[in-house]
Amino acid sequence: MSTLSRRQFLTTAATAALGTQMSSCATLASGSAIDAHVHVWTPDTQRYPLASGFEKKNMAPASFTPEQLFAHCKPEGVSRIVLIQMSFYRYDNRYMLDAIAAHPGAFSGVAIIDENAPDVRGRMKALAKQGVRGFRIYTASKDVEAWLATPGMQEMWKVAADEGLNICLLINPETLAAVDKMCIKYPQTPVVVDHFARVGMAGPVTRAHLDRLLHLSVHKKLTLKTSAFYALGKKTPPYTDLAPMIKECRDYFGADRLMWASDCPFQVDPGHTYKDSIALIRDHLDFLTPSEKAAMLGKTAERVFFGA
Ligand SMILES: [Zn+2]
Repeated sequence: MSTLSRRQFLTTAATAALGTQMSSCATLASGSAIDAHVHVWTPDTQRYPLASGFEKKNMAPASFTPEQLFAHCKPEGVSRIVLIQMSFYRYDNRYMLDAIAAHPGAFSGVAIIDENAPDVRGRMKALAKQGVRGFRIYTASKDVEAWLATPGMQEMWKVAADEGLNICLLINPETLAAVDKMCIKYPQTPVVVDHFARVGMAGPVTRAHLDRLLHLSVHKKLTLKTSAFYALGKKTPPYTDLAPMIKECRDYFGADRLMWASDCPFQVDPGHTYKDSIALIRDHLDFLTPSEKAAMLGKTAERVFFGA
């Protein structure tokens, strides 16, 4: 059975079994959407110093605190957010951890650690106790395969599988083949791919790149963020040029492995609004059923990032 016909079969079977009950419990209660990817930071660089190589002028906007975030997301019914450690704090996750502690229940976190420092397992477990559910990895290295093969990286993927934590990948389409190999080697590791693997960022969405991304759907523990619309394709609201790519992702992964995210504060740069981002999934894509929208706008992220 093809992925599409299997999906249609399951949907039909589930609808027949549950009748109207399904649509009522599969839709999202108002105000309960989850944004699966936001960065926060503070201009207080005394208390939260920037890592070497970064300066205040790199912080654009100068400030994006949880309160500033809430002003954008709450009017759109988003009550929970996954915070992603910001690059300019490098391995110092304190600002994110303090935000999680200050707003109980509102945030989950994705931390960044030095995979080459001792006791990867102990550090990952300690962060998990503070609300972290994922670990972000990205590389500037040209040899991605060699980097993924380092002992520190291998340990991270192992610990993530053991502890039910996510390996969160900020990658470009060129890296998808290396990620595929890691997913084959560590099939129990929950993996999250950010921003469609940035297909359509450097240039138009190409068939070759998209096929490589869709192929990752064979890895059952892998989920995908449908996010960062401001940076993809035509990079212009309402972003409906991305609809064919989103439809194919839905067909291959199923909506229960897709998570909408804004990638604020970049989504609220001039020319784009928070509403523009959530509206693409919520209001503009007729091929998504109400239950698929509910999955993409919260239920998948709830399972992946807010589970016990
Ligand atoms: Zn981001």
